[in-house]
Amino acid sequence: MQDVERLKQGIPLLDYLERHNWTARRAGPRQEFVGLCPLHQDTRPSFYVNARKNLFYCHGCGRGGDLIRLVELSLRLSFRQSVEYLKRQLVPAGDSELLEQTAAFYRSELHRRPEAGQYLVSRGLRDPGLIEELGLGYAAGGSLHRHLAGLGYSFESLLRAGLISPQGHDTFRRRILFPCRQQGRLVNLYGRSIGAAFPHRLLPRSKGGLFAWESVGQFSMVILVEGLFDLAVLWQAGFRNTTCAIGTHLTPLQLAQLEDRPGRSVYLAFDEDENQAGQQAGRLLGPRLESAGLRARLVRLPARHDPNSYFVAGATAGDFAACLRQAQPA
Ligand SMILES: [Zn+2]
Repeated sequence: MQDVERLKQGIPLLDYLERHNWTARRAGPRQEFVGLCPLHQDTRPSFYVNARKNLFYCHGCGRGGDLIRLVELSLRLSFRQSVEYLKRQLVPAGDSELLEQTAAFYRSELHRRPEAGQYLVSRGLRDPGLIEELGLGYAAGGSLHRHLAGLGYSFESLLRAGLISPQGHDTFRRRILFPCRQQGRLVNLYGRSIGAAFPHRLLPRSKGGLFAWESVGQFSMVILVEGLFDLAVLWQAGFRNTTCAIGTHLTPLQLAQLEDRPGRSVYLAFDEDENQAGQQAGRLLGPRLESAGLRARLVRLPARHDPNSYFVAGATAGDFAACLRQAQPA
């Protein structure tokens, strides 16, 4: 039974649903979400999820329960089979180990490749302790497959995880790697291209919750940024209450995390893009957070800056603190 509780805690219901492409909007003030029911032919959203209690209920077909019940119903499995399925499918120990080995390999590459260090400096990241703490790595390219084969991993397992291309090339080639963890478990890898390739890349799996929420979630005032390099420079400047959703679109799980403390202040420090995308996202998210009982503030940075480029251009912690003080209600 203890096993079952651990399983349910390790796989939040919303996270599971998201990974199965369930889309939802918030319903009601607290951590409630509604979307189309995955258990019956639903035309109007009638499937409700309470993210805090980890429970669902469908007003269409009248069924409800926890994650295991959902698996029993959707896959027509017994309770015992559902538990086994979740253990196998969703906490793939081998897969998590594979990601850990990958992150460790890329970590060791970071210090061997001068272009990686130069890139970090160009993004304003200088503190070796922080680089270590974030577990940053670098994929030089072409060598992950050989390294992991030596540790007994098959070509297919790497391909399945999205770590290599069918030709055997590192999919993260020439990228700085940020490991994304949730409750200590490595759930994804974010790669930022240092060259001309498409800048952002994640493995084809859930991006997980808010970055470093285990430590940031304790703050009653948090700063939310778009990118992990924004987070890195802010942590370096002492703003350890900064978290990141990797993009401006928050998943239901990430929203539920922000909303887990009523009255929390959330400072949205998105990019001041020329095309207004960051500001637009902030203007949409702000009222949404407010209606959930949070205090949302929009942080304005000088034109065409994001928090990272602002610090790279010479801003100090004091400059950014001034931006926080001048933040406007959303
Ligand atoms: Zn239903």
